Amino acid sequence: MAKTTNKVECLHCGAVLRDGNTSPCPECGKNGRRILVDVAGEIDVAGHVTWEKRREFYERRPLALVSVIALTVGAPFLGLVLVGWAGVIAGLMLGAVAYWIGPLAITKVREIERGG
Ligand SMILES: [Zn+2]
Repeated sequence: MAKTTNKVECLHCGAVLRDGNTSPCPECGKNGRRILVDVAGEIDVAGHVTWEKRREFYERRPLALVSVIALTVGAPFLGLVLVGWAGVIAGLMLGAVAYWIGPLAITKVREIERGG
């Protein structure tokens, strides 16, 4: 019986954006959106009805996300170009970069409030 509300806003200026809109922000022209998911519901814990409000944020950074995908897809092809140990080392370096950028692409924050 949880009620969920979604709201999409600009990561940079906080302007409310239409859901599903992937173009840059009409207010500031930058990319990057914050998706707010509000979950409000009543849960029955040992006979006590308590309320729980959860708020989750997803922050997407398109540039970092594109970089991770490009690195992940591109790394195996290096083996075609760089043969031998050079290819192995280059592949490892790209993997390390993707590993470092990965967490920047999508950040998830969760806030939970409870009461009764
Ligand atoms: Zn904006």
